[in-house]
Amino acid sequence: LSTWSAVPAGPPDPILGVTEAFKADTDQRKINLGVGAYRDDAGKPYVLPSVKRAEQILSSSVLDKEYLPITGLPEFTKNAAKLAYGGESKPLVSNSIAVTQSISGTGALRIGGAFLARFYPHTKVIYLPVPSWGNHTPIFRDSGLEVKGYRYFDKKTVGLDFAGLKEDLQNAPEQSIVLLHACAHNPTGIDPTPEQWKEISDIVKDKKLFPFFDMAYQGFASGSTGRDAFAVRHFVSQGHQIALAQSFAKNMGLYGERVGAFSLITADPEEKARVDSQLKIVIRPMYSNPPLHGARIANTILSSQELYSQWEGEVKGMADRIISMRDKLYDTLVGLNTPGEWGHIKSQIGIFTGLTQPQTKALAERAHIYMTSDGRISMAGLNAKNIEYFAESVSKAVK
Ligand code: PMP
Repeated sequence: LSTWSAVPAGPPDPILGVTEAFKADTDQRKINLGVGAYRDDAGKPYVLPSVKRAEQILSSSVLDKEYLPITGLPEFTKNAAKLAYGGESKPLVSNSIAVTQSISGTGALRIGGAFLARFYPHTKVIYLPVPSWGNHTPIFRDSGLEVKGYRYFDKKTVGLDFAGLKEDLQNAPEQSIVLLHACAHNPTGIDPTPEQWKEISDIVKDKKLFPFFDMAYQGFASGSTGRDAFAVRHFVSQGHQIALAQSFAKNMGLYGERVGAFSLITADPEEKARVDSQLKIVIRPMYSNPPLHGARIANTILSSQELYSQWEGEVKGMADRIISMRDKLYDTLVGLNTPGEWGHIKSQIGIFTGLTQPQTKALAERAHIYMTSDGRISMAGLNAKNIEYFAESVSKAVK
């Protein structure tokens, strides 16, 4: 008998499984709206010109391949924190932010989960929005936290269930951990307004909740890295000690390079040093130290004024293309007299929007259009060539 004969087959990954079905379809018109990676207007993966320039600079410099420190490339983590918190941020200026490089956003969440499981001095329960990114629950559960939910999406209005959100946070036990999507909520595309963020910050303060921000899309939502950091910076300005997971997968298109950062706000440089020492002890047995190349690319962009402003323009270009697809999709659906209210397609933020499950099934079966079974659509998969076919197919599936 084989040692592994009792291992049961697990279910396929709900997101990556969509790509398999797409690949197997031979129809010319097929569209993949499953994975949330950006595509250009020809439907192709996009390497940012600022990234190409950074790689040219790197390849013409004499660099070694030595190990990075456990917490990564120091200039990169400094610049990543500055990007998130803003150069003027009080804890940043007073050297009170503990920050480490991470294996993209997923790794940042996992380091955060493991650190909280080991050192958070109160009940180790994390509240996630319902729904949330599908990987949040297993990440935090495997880190050793208990996972619960708070209301977020209102199906009836296709908007934020703000009353439900407030009620659930108010009823959560004091000092619970709460996960907040900093911008471009995945999968709903619905964010709180700045006024609503201020109310959420007040509740978090009243109830002594611990805010853990996941910022996987800074710049990608509105086209401005500053505007997308509003919630994070507001919370910090209100004195919250936040945890923050950052990813450079989307905003620099560095998906496979796995560049991210995890940070914690501490009281002062002495406390920061203690937290840093423990972050190293958490990370060392996981993977010793992070990869070099992606952090060098990101840091080359973040540390050069010229490349930085080029990059800002490119982030805005990606955000604007998605926003224009939203406008076009809305106009075409309405122009085809598609039954239903479609205003949410224009008001949503980031790369996702949604359809119902039966509509999703109909699209896959009859129109060769693939998306996750919860109806999440990656807007980035739409372009000038396929958007009319997509809109017509949706219109048919709905009628
Ligand atoms: N958080 C959210 C909300 C996401 O959507 C993603 C990517 N899909 C991530 C984190 C992490 O992605 P990565 O590990 O590629 O940075």
